[in-house]
Amino acid sequence: MSLLARFRAFLRRLRLRRRRRQEEQRLSADSGIGSAEPSGSGPQRRSISETHADIQAILRTLHGGLPAYQGGYGEYHMQLEDYVGTHFTSELISEILQNFEVTILDIPTPMMNPNMECFCISSLQVLFACPPFVEFVRTNGLDTVVQNENDPVIRQAQIDRAVKSIFAQYLVGSPIIHCTPLLHLVTNVNEQDAEEFFQTLHGLYCSESLPLPKQITLWTCDSCNSVTISDPEPSIFNLPTRLPGQDRTNMMNLVFHKTGFETEKRICKFCKDFSDGFVHTKYCFSNILRVYGHTDGSHAEFEEVVDLTELDNTGEPSMWQLAGTVYYRSFGNASSDNRRSCDGHYTAVVHHKNRRVLMDDGKRPMVVPADSDVPYFYGEPYYAVYYKMNWMESQGGGQNQ
Ligand SMILES: [Zn+2]
Repeated sequence: MSLLARFRAFLRRLRLRRRRRQEEQRLSADSGIGSAEPSGSGPQRRSISETHADIQAILRTLHGGLPAYQGGYGEYHMQLEDYVGTHFTSELISEILQNFEVTILDIPTPMMNPNMECFCISSLQVLFACPPFVEFVRTNGLDTVVQNENDPVIRQAQIDRAVKSIFAQYLVGSPIIHCTPLLHLVTNVNEQDAEEFFQTLHGLYCSESLPLPKQITLWTCDSCNSVTISDPEPSIFNLPTRLPGQDRTNMMNLVFHKTGFETEKRICKFCKDFSDGFVHTKYCFSNILRVYGHTDGSHAEFEEVVDLTELDNTGEPSMWQLAGTVYYRSFGNASSDNRRSCDGHYTAVVHHKNRRVLMDDGKRPMVVPADSDVPYFYGEPYYAVYYKMNWMESQGGGQNQ
């Protein structure tokens, strides 16, 4: 056999061996023999069906096992808090937050009012209808601080755990949700003002990620036409009073007032004249906006979609969607300024799947027909929460501080 012929034979054997080896590998992969071990890639994730089974069991007990619902802060309230604390573990809560969307719910989930918590419930209903807030709750890791025993317990982390727990119960449509644990962390039951509750919760919890607007005023001097620009400062966003002849004030009124309607006399720093000038207010917005409606008792109206481009300091198109409105009905003296006296009731009208849904504590949600007012019984719009319609694009980058 020539050298060349031996070499060719050698190549044939090699090829044959390789083919046989490939055949063996294919067979063993089919039968599972010798297949790769699941390499230790972190803790085993539970399947979503296991999570569902857990939730079903918890909700069944809430429906049937606990004694019939009792209001107030007695035995039942304590039992419920224990039950929720034990069963809605941080693992289950984080599984729910990862896997369940608000949009899965046909209607928003009501929350029970043991006694005087409507101001907290209505505020939470509006916030849960506000996607940038929901995204903040789902993605922040604030709650993990509490689990580290070496770290000092931080109030923000406790608040986050309470919000996450309530929101998880909300997402799975739990029949009995109490907000009391959160309420006690933020304020006390006697602090009955929904707008103040919102402010306090916002300040303690999410003011860094979702800051309220800062305002800049541009004053144009009538004498020399120079523009004096102020430093940005935090501002309360209020609807203005009604214009003469109007029976309502709304967001369009607000844009009108902020863009040159108001004049002011000042000493101009350019021409030194004590001059008239018009004031144009601009804002550095984040992705949420709270607007206070109550000014002089006039009807507040919060449009569903508003164009705030004229007020947006970025100069870019700025369209806003109404997440929801907190309503207040006074039972007592209508002219009383003191909402902390227990003589009124708060409800919320939230936008859910292109419908307006009225949320009144634990009562069954009521869809308000399009083109129809919220029944007078529920009082007046008190404050509203809007979110930027393209909030997902501005997420992360370019938060105007
Ligand atoms: Zn001037």
